[in-house]
Amino acid sequence: MAWDFETDADFQRQLDWMDTFVREEIEPIGLIWNKGTDPFDVRNPTTCALIKPLQEEVRKRELWACHLTPDLGGQGYGQVKLALMNEILGRSQWASRVFGTQAPDTGNAEIIAHYGTQAQKARYLQPLLNGEIVSCYSMTEPQAGSDPAEFRCRAWREGNDWVLDGEKYFSSHADFAEFLIVMAITDPDVPVHHGATMFLVPRDTPGIEILRNVGLMHESLDEPGSHGWVRYNRVRLPADAVLGEPGKAFELAQKRLGGGRIHHAMRTVAYCKRALDMLCERALSRHTQGSLLSEKQTVQNYIADSFIQLEQFRLLVLYAAWWCDKGDRHKSRAYISAVKVQAAEVLHDIVRRAVQVHGALGCSNETPLAGLWMAVPMMGVMDGPTEVHRVTVAKQVLRHYTASPDPLWPSEWLPAKIDAARRKFADYLDDTVGNL
Ligand SMILES: Cc1cc2nc3c(=O)[nH]c(=O)nc-3n(C[C@H](O)[C@H](O)[C@H](O)COP(=O)(O)OP(=O)(O)OC[C@H]3O[C@@H](n4cnc5c(N)ncnc54)[C@H](O)[C@@H]3O)c2cc1C
Repeated sequence: MAWDFETDADFQRQLDWMDTFVREEIEPIGLIWNKGTDPFDVRNPTTCALIKPLQEEVRKRELWACHLTPDLGGQGYGQVKLALMNEILGRSQWASRVFGTQAPDTGNAEIIAHYGTQAQKARYLQPLLNGEIVSCYSMTEPQAGSDPAEFRCRAWREGNDWVLDGEKYFSSHADFAEFLIVMAITDPDVPVHHGATMFLVPRDTPGIEILRNVGLMHESLDEPGSHGWVRYNRVRLPADAVLGEPGKAFELAQKRLGGGRIHHAMRTVAYCKRALDMLCERALSRHTQGSLLSEKQTVQNYIADSFIQLEQFRLLVLYAAWWCDKGDRHKSRAYISAVKVQAAEVLHDIVRRAVQVHGALGCSNETPLAGLWMAVPMMGVMDGPTEVHRVTVAKQVLRHYTASPDPLWPSEWLPAKIDAARRKFADYLDDTVGNL
């Protein structure tokens, strides 16, 4: 009987240490550097100086970049352990940088480690793992994100070189990344899933133009955002810029997204927990219309529903992680897409209730609820929209079914089956139960 909801004692000690470290050392950073400061911007000397000693502590504790295998300086943890860690890291947007687990660098490091040549690993992977640089993943285009058949960014051979031309949208950290991993169509004559290639492109390559740094909806229009709208103007790349093999971009893309989505979902558990904490605290603090909010049944319903949704979601994420660790490709796909859908919905519901019980204060920009609320629409879009993940879940569920032999009846209640049951129980049937 192997079902078990407990964490082994050694790992729990590490989680406890992380919990205290994030609360005491990292969360205070977010109280000061919260508006207009990107935690991942390696060009900011102040925040780099703040973070460096914290990263050292994490390394000493052997918790640095745990998603990587030991030969790359990590711990080679499976998805369940990583999920439990991300539940803690999600408390502060600074934490993933301190622990060497920030997106998109984690996924990028994973595919370079897996598919890169020795020379590519030496040039890009090592400094990335050391936390000295950040990287960018440049796939979405202005006219297409979730449907790669609409991608237009192309690359073709000219002599020994490749020439890359086209536009990419929402390439996070493009402006200050040391390099970009760019997906481009290299064979337009075959379906896109076999005709696209990944390229490793140093940021200072001539021809890379940032048309705009797009900001998120809660960020000021006066400040540059972090999501690059990038134009690749006939960017010339050497033959060894290809990551993996030509035509295999989607194989690489799948490798980098699975774990990342689970980690993101578990950080969403932390966002929801934070909103629920605030909801409960407010319910116990605010006196109105003759009683505390916590004594009003509607507010009790808010708390109970939030707790139930959060616990269900958390277990679903851990279950998805467990399927990944088991190596079951189909199950992992279905459950990863399921948690991706749930993340947006659960976050929406819980933050909405927390905002509501905070009244006017909840509508202000003076609590963490503002940032949490603004994260809701992003959650339903990034890493693929909710609708597309629902399709994936449905397809995986349908794999286990076939059509009824008689389209007029459900297969369980086919007239032939009912007749067979009638014959089987003929001795017991009397007039009162005989009319099935
Ligand atoms: C914060 C953030 C960071 C991001 N970072 C990166 C990054 O670093 N690199 C990168 O390459 N991209 C990044 N993206 C882009 C992200 O991957 C895309 O937004 C996502 O894939 C969706 O693509 P799209 O925006 O073009 O929407 P579209 O694909 O155009 O979809 C728009 C809407 O159409 C609907 N829709 C789409 N397909 C279906 C369907 N089959 N059935 C029903 N309805 C459907 C959905 O409502 C969907 O939201 C980021 C996005 C966000 C929000």
